[in-house]
Amino acid sequence: RESLDIEIRVMPYSDDQFLLVARDVTQGKQLDTMRRDFVANVSHELKTPLTVLQGYLEMLTDVENVPPAMAQRAVDQMQQQSDRMKNLVDQLLQLSRMETPSHDVFEQVVDVPALIEELRLEGEKLATDKQLTLTVDVEPIKVYGKGDQLRSAMQNLITNAVRYTNAGGQIRITWREVNNEVEFSVEDDGPGIDSDHLPRLTERFYRVDPDRNSDSGGTGLGLSIVKQALQHHNSHLEVNSKPGLGSRFWFRMPAGLVVDS
Ligand code: ADP
Repeated sequence: RESLDIEIRVMPYSDDQFLLVARDVTQGKQLDTMRRDFVANVSHELKTPLTVLQGYLEMLTDVENVPPAMAQRAVDQMQQQSDRMKNLVDQLLQLSRMETPSHDVFEQVVDVPALIEELRLEGEKLATDKQLTLTVDVEPIKVYGKGDQLRSAMQNLITNAVRYTNAGGQIRITWREVNNEVEFSVEDDGPGIDSDHLPRLTERFYRVDPDRNSDSGGTGLGLSIVKQALQHHNSHLEVNSKPGLGSRFWFRMPAGLVVDS
């Protein structure tokens, strides 16, 4: 390890002797720091929309002096901010449920092609303003898995592609057999991600460009949810990305999870 945090205690042993006890507290300290960072991040993420909400509420209190068009804009903004808070709380709950060992979800046959069709429709709704083209190439393969968690993983990857790809872009979703495994992949021709950021993408609240991305409607939790969901399926997230060219996020599931369709 690069460094250790050692706690040293000196205890009386006999009249003229002491006992020196050294304890490695590195892990505990790291957990403490992570916990503190997490609470700070959650508070910050909630505080931003709350401040905006409060501002508009104050403005609307003075009802007689607010022109109707301005009031309407305020209500729209308040709606947007409360959606943002709801989204954050939903994702936090999802993460915490996935991290609770006692919350064991039964595995079931998951009809992934049907699931992808649902997600494609959702993605298209999100993509209409930007006129993105979504193409889907799906093999009729079902798997055993935790349906809600697989849905979350796939949904987050598709939503990110839609969110970060520029207007007029292309997104390709595939689900196919590769070398006795089954692979889900979402590829976009969006802005791409610099390689420095790739190792940290699945950290909670990590964003490549915090200022720009907090306006995008994301919470910074999407890929950490994907990571957790995939861990429960003995799988992990892979990413290939080139700045200016686009990104491909994908994961494979062991062939043992495939069932006849
Ligand atoms: P967020 O809710 O901010 O989207 P995520 O955990 O889902 O958080 O993603 C982490 C960061 O990775 C994003 O803030 C964004 O900077 C980057 N990212 C994720 N997917 C893409 C993509 N398809 N294209 C470009 N950047 C992406």
